[in-house]
Amino acid sequence: MLIVNEAQCQAIAQRLRQQTIRADEYLFVPATREEARREANYWTFVVAICQHTKSLAGTIDGRWCRGWDYLVRATRRVVDEVASAEAMAAINADRLRAILSDDFDPAHSTVDRVEERLRQLHEVAATLLEQYEGEAMNLYHQAGGRIAGPDGIIARLRAIPAFQDPLNKKAQLLVGHLDAAGVWPLDDPENLKVCMDYHAMRVALRTGIVEITDPGLRIALKQKAPVTDEINHRVRQVVSDACDRVIALSGVSVYEFDKWIWHLGRSCCFYDHEPICGPRTCHKMDICTYIKAVDYRCLGKCSLDGACKGSRDDDYRALWETNVYTEYY
Ligand code: SF4
Ligand code: SF4
Repeated sequence: MLIVNEAQCQAIAQRLRQQTIRADEYLFVPATREEARREANYWTFVVAICQHTKSLAGTIDGRWCRGWDYLVRATRRVVDEVASAEAMAAINADRLRAILSDDFDPAHSTVDRVEERLRQLHEVAATLLEQYEGEAMNLYHQAGGRIAGPDGIIARLRAIPAFQDPLNKKAQLLVGHLDAAGVWPLDDPENLKVCMDYHAMRVALRTGIVEITDPGLRIALKQKAPVTDEINHRVRQVVSDACDRVIALSGVSVYEFDKWIWHLGRSCCFYDHEPICGPRTCHKMDICTYIKAVDYRCLGKCSLDGACKGSRDDDYRALWETNVYTEYY
């Protein structure tokens, strides 16, 4: 159905080696144990509701932002509240809308799937309160600082529905971020994986690091036709394998690669316009997050132009991520 294309992995890894990925702008390194405790809880709650963030957009603290940026910047204004398991256990729809609005007026919020996100927050709070005295830091300590294993962080997070993704997108995002911030230093960082979301899938399929060998799947992905959970899982698994290969060939860390492919997917290779490569030049330099996240002196085209199959071949450029409804990414 799909295979990893070794030659394309090498071509993309070569481009990647020429770029430097900067530190994440939301990486807050705590100075005290109390700050570390707060960060562990804050990110656990925020990551739990990080799916389908495309409706979020507005101006927070004088700066326009969207999606994940909006989610983080808006919730960061009330970090102590969001980091409180007691507060999140009691949060209602009006308060969630108020937090996720420019001016704390729930009527002005653009957030969607509110009941789903409320349930997720309540479920995280319930697990933390029942099993970890309300502290995500206790989950980390009881896991022995290990991601993997039957008693590891991911296995423990799996008690929470928002973290039950078979590819562990949210869990990997959480542990990768908290490890980088020094909040959850990992005993087994080799078990970190790239977060398998729609941006990573779109870029992997268009670059050709993953080749689709099933003509029916190729047509479905080009037409954005809904696919089954089983097919979605297989696509994500092969994309994950290809990302592992590019990481091994390029020498960047999983965390760096994750930031790189994610910013690429929401900048040059975004879902609401044609890819910015080949004959097309950039129209969005003013809002591009890639050139902030990566040391790339952009002259108006994607950094993979020429190496990526999508920049040379319409058949690859026309591919999209899988079309599924999911709470996992
Ligand atoms: S500024 Fe450059 S890196 Fe950013 S979206 Fe445009 S072409 Fe891509
Ligand atoms: S070169 Fe084009 S198709 Fe390939 S990742 Fe960049 S924007 Fe997407």
